[in-house]
Amino acid sequence: MNTKFSEFIRNASPEEKKRVFMKVMDDVSKAQQAVIDKAHRLDVKDQQCGCYYCCEIFNGNTITEFVDGSKTAICPLCGVDSVIIKVTDKNELKELNTKWFGST
Ligand SMILES: [Zn+2]
Repeated sequence: MNTKFSEFIRNASPEEKKRVFMKVMDDVSKAQQAVIDKAHRLDVKDQQCGCYYCCEIFNGNTITEFVDGSKTAICPLCGVDSVIIKVTDKNELKELNTKWFGST
């Protein structure tokens, strides 16, 4: 299911992603909900951002692409809209990745 789910997310429309996102959000703790405050165009500048799809950390200034009316940053490394701001720890990303995309 994991591969299929990743595949699905990659090809999903923004509406589908939102639907899945909301569903997954029901499962995550309040703390994690606070973490999944997605990066916006205005707040990525000079911030340490991370992507919980590819689990990489990068500077927000390297993000050039936004969707959803500039509300959602696209990861400059993998092109998935899974960017969150103020990430300091890759383990944080990995935890979210597991929640979101499943992992083995
Ligand atoms: Zn990424």
